[in-house]
Amino acid sequence: MKPIPSTDGRRRTPVLVIGGGPVGLGTAIELAQHGTACIVIEPRADVSWLRPRAKTTSTRTMEHFRRWGIAGTVRRRAPIPQSWSDEVVFCTTLLGREVTRFDRCLGLDLIDDDLVAEGGQQAPQPLIESIMRDRVCELPEAELLVGHRFVGLTQDDSGVVATVVDESGNLITILSEFLVGCDGSRSAVREAIGAKYEGSADERPNFNVVFRAESLAARMRLGDAVHYWVLNPGQPGLVGRLNLVDEWWCVIMGVGAEEGAVDPARLVHNLIGDETEPVAIEVLATDPWRARMQVSDTFRSGRVFLAGDAAHIVPPTGAKGLNLAVADVRILARAFEDFYSRGRAERLQQYSATCLRRVWKVQRFSWWMTSMLHRFPDENAFDHRRQLAELDYITGSRAGQTTLAENYVGLPLD
Ligand SMILES: Cc1cc2nc3c(=O)[nH]c(=O)nc-3n(C[C@H](O)[C@H](O)[C@H](O)COP(=O)(O)OP(=O)(O)OC[C@H]3O[C@@H](n4cnc5c(N)ncnc54)[C@H](O)[C@@H]3O)c2cc1C
Repeated sequence: MKPIPSTDGRRRTPVLVIGGGPVGLGTAIELAQHGTACIVIEPRADVSWLRPRAKTTSTRTMEHFRRWGIAGTVRRRAPIPQSWSDEVVFCTTLLGREVTRFDRCLGLDLIDDDLVAEGGQQAPQPLIESIMRDRVCELPEAELLVGHRFVGLTQDDSGVVATVVDESGNLITILSEFLVGCDGSRSAVREAIGAKYEGSADERPNFNVVFRAESLAARMRLGDAVHYWVLNPGQPGLVGRLNLVDEWWCVIMGVGAEEGAVDPARLVHNLIGDETEPVAIEVLATDPWRARMQVSDTFRSGRVFLAGDAAHIVPPTGAKGLNLAVADVRILARAFEDFYSRGRAERLQQYSATCLRRVWKVQRFSWWMTSMLHRFPDENAFDHRRQLAELDYITGSRAGQTTLAENYVGLPLD
């Protein structure tokens, strides 16, 4: 089944996917690999190389990548090999003192391990998207239209009519049997079907900086690690390498867009801790964001479905954003497989309920991790003692550790 060529100026396809981020591209790969044709609509001509949001790809997601035929390419092209380090270091500053370190983190130690089909991998989101774009283009059943933006839809019992602005600014119509909204947190598809995000955003801002620092690694004495948590109360943050040459990323906590824009280099120097002998750095990009906990009240209306950030957002604690979204993709693909190969619509009808049950469990986990590990402006000494007791329990109890591990690795699909 291939996208049907236009004869009347209107495109037709069995499934129209809105958004060519990782979730839309993953949906297209799943569908096309199972013989269902689809078109993906994406405004960005190229991926956003300087916005490396998700970097932690879990073992479960790498297993899905294996089925999608891209796990090997992700490992080959990842700028930091899986074997490079499985450690996370906590420190006063990058050039300062080590507080503690953990090893065997993020499934990076699971190399040729019988426990999983694929170990975890650090890989920046734009690289994953770029590899997925290549894979979509290899599959004859899938078509990626960049420079195109979805603007509206109508639907009835026979299908969906989507209005799209093409790369020249012309309005075009695409007719499909089903439409999947993978257009991120500000989803126009969600709005078009009248679904609503419930939940809240953290008031405290975060400011991401990507920077180049040729001599930083040579100056550091903390050893190799995938993340460095800077615990300096004056300027807390999280830092890591984007490649093993000279590019780094950091999250600067408690700093908003306006404050960050004034002098992002100073904020990076605060995390490095190099007042006496500054390291030469070049700021390459900045990206302000807030942690959000939001879930759409439904993931489906008739023939229209939502997946990924269009349907839910969790705080990055627990690295569940993209890794959670990949499960939506699999659940939806399985439902389409049942529909197109066996004529059964039950899984499509149950998609929203199946995903919501899982997503709420992940929201609970992210909320629990965040409330255990972060300091809050309105917390008192009593709350802090409770947090310490929670940590004590988790680190001291086999049952507690199993619960954390089960949720961190990823819950079963159903
Ligand atoms: C700082 C930070 C760190 C993170 N770290 C991790 C991590 O380590 N691990 C993890 O799993 N997740 C992480 N995440 C979350 C992860 O980035 C998101 O969950 C992921 O990008 C969701 O993918 P998506 O395809 O649903 O949405 P997006 O990546 O937002 O993609 C949506 C796509 O839709 C397109 N689009 C928008 N509007 C339209 C329109 N009208 N028509 C057509 N297309 C449209 C956009 O151009 C975009 O390509 C992190 C997020 C942040 C902010």
